[in-house]
Amino acid sequence: MIVYEKNYDVIVVGAGHAGCEAALAAARMGAATLFLTINLDAIALMSCNPAIGGLAKGHLVKEIDALGGEMGRNIDATGIQFRVLNTKKGPAVRASRAQADKQQYRLRMKYVLEQQDRLDLKQVEVTGLYLEDDAVAGVDTKGGVRYLGKTVVLTTGTFMRGLIHIGLVHYPGGRAGDLPSIGLSDHLAECGFEVGRLKTGTPARLDGRTIDFHRLEPQYGDENPIPFSFSNERIDQPQVPCHIAYTNQKSHEIIRSGLDRSPLYAGIIEGIGPRYCPSIEDKVVRFPDKDRHQTFIEPEGRDTVEVYPSGMSTSLPIDIQWAFYRSIEGLERVEIMRPAYAIEYDYVNPIQLHASLETKVLRNLYHAGQINGTSGYEEAAAQGLMAGINAALRVRGNEPLVLGRSEAYIGVMIDDLVTLGTKEPYRMFTSRAEYRLLLREDNADLRLREKGYAIGLLPDELWHSFLQKRDLINERLEFLGKERLTPSAAGEDLLRDWDLTGMQNAISYEQLLRRPEFTCQDLARIYPDIMNLPESVRDQLEIQIKYKGYIDRQLEQVERAAKLEDTKIPADIDFTSISGLSTEIQEKLARFRPDTLGQASRIPGVTPAGITMLSIAMKARG
Ligand code: FAD
Repeated sequence: MIVYEKNYDVIVVGAGHAGCEAALAAARMGAATLFLTINLDAIALMSCNPAIGGLAKGHLVKEIDALGGEMGRNIDATGIQFRVLNTKKGPAVRASRAQADKQQYRLRMKYVLEQQDRLDLKQVEVTGLYLEDDAVAGVDTKGGVRYLGKTVVLTTGTFMRGLIHIGLVHYPGGRAGDLPSIGLSDHLAECGFEVGRLKTGTPARLDGRTIDFHRLEPQYGDENPIPFSFSNERIDQPQVPCHIAYTNQKSHEIIRSGLDRSPLYAGIIEGIGPRYCPSIEDKVVRFPDKDRHQTFIEPEGRDTVEVYPSGMSTSLPIDIQWAFYRSIEGLERVEIMRPAYAIEYDYVNPIQLHASLETKVLRNLYHAGQINGTSGYEEAAAQGLMAGINAALRVRGNEPLVLGRSEAYIGVMIDDLVTLGTKEPYRMFTSRAEYRLLLREDNADLRLREKGYAIGLLPDELWHSFLQKRDLINERLEFLGKERLTPSAAGEDLLRDWDLTGMQNAISYEQLLRRPEFTCQDLARIYPDIMNLPESVRDQLEIQIKYKGYIDRQLEQVERAAKLEDTKIPADIDFTSISGLSTEIQEKLARFRPDTLGQASRIPGVTPAGITMLSIAMKARG
């Protein structure tokens, strides 16, 4: 191997959504960073849906942004349709989603990376790790060059031993049009990692010129699109519509007729697929009584005719794909530009990771994204950000940044992965978070900006504008608690309109805002200046006041759990020698090697009594 002349602090392998955040975070935090990927023209490429956000995923994007990551800004600049989902539901489950211009998204991210100081980008395939004394010290590449680095972040996505399936035809590929990564996962297995196999799938890309959009139902974006990034005030670019179409009985018959040539049903695919993103053949087989399935026909960008039919992923043979897509009303003449396919790939069991995303097998090695068994751009980006941050902190000799389950969805996801592992593609849901009301999209900056600034990731100007917002919220909350409406000042009309006739005592503005249907707009009748506050501040006032009781209750629960979460388990403890623990619990603890008592308590089969025995044993050690 030829050894490259520079010695890096952080080497990031893979330029998907995880890799981009990892590389930017490390370089922005001052680390000399090398970014290696198989194809520099496929940086931040969206392998599947051209969209960012959605339920729980929008939360992740806001958290990435609050900490100083790039995904939110990138979609704000390149989005073509923005919507807030669940606006009629409570604030905890409201979520932002945007269609992206796929090529613009990729190009802008590449540009941002290229402009970043301390960041070198190179197109190479990594085939193995270079080790020194059980710690990683660099990577070896297919071209025969060794790159040295103090830390390495692996973000290989769906590429390791990637195998593409279209019907009974299959061939190696990292994703359609991209080469697979061969050799790296075998090397990881030799190093002691548990390598498994997963699968995912994507729909065909269709030629929009051959679709009769007049027969489909249009769906428009929000009139006042709201940015993802806390550093953006508005979205200026025009929005484009999506269209809704449906399968029918004929489509389902065609799909059934092809099942004997489906790699899934013929038993050729061994990897487990995403339960929550089933293929169209799965839906037809699993729900035989459903007479139609909906699809959103989403544009892939402004400058292309390609469209993406969401929810229509399949690995059925191409002749079945032709017939089935053409059986949909409005798509009778449709031409397929890129066929649908499934892909199998290698991942590494995430229980072999610390909560910092450093591996337990090799020091200074971090894993992030789909390599950890997750699915989705946002899940990948969030892990990439944390791995990049923690690699940079390691180089500085600082403690890692680990977010708790009560602090961020990112914390929930990483804790789930490292304590429970996963045998099927893991995606984020709001239901995975036990403190949902604390982890809202709207307060991600209030939860995380300070942490981003403390580690040197968030730039000064964003920190100062955040401080202004936070001070304004706190000051106005205090004001609303103190300021009162008296019956005499209110006047009869107001008392009647607000259902307060007969009111004897003064009522605070806070009490008024606590009423379910009462908004800042209503309060403006007696406090007009409230409408001069930024919308994001008014939202905070309403949410924090209306949900105060519930929020306080969750905060109490967090406090009760804090003792377990904060108690670290010594790395060298021998679980098998703790008397009083059942052999089953001893074995589970020895296999998962939890970092804290909180993590230990979430391992399936570890009982509260087991946790008590463990903490007694820890105290006895002193
Ligand atoms: P990727 O985006 O896959 O990027 C991996 C990067 O690593 C690439 O740049 C690659 O070139 C590079 N790389 C890999 N190995 C090496 C190496 N040895 N040396 C150098 N570079 C290397 N997600 C959903 O949420 N819903 C879906 O329905 C869905 N469907 C999908 C369907 C398909 C067919 C595919 C391919 C993916 C799908 N995804 C879906 C997953 C989504 O694309 C990923 O979760 C996300 O892109 C993962 O990001 P990542 O950064 O981990 O990896």
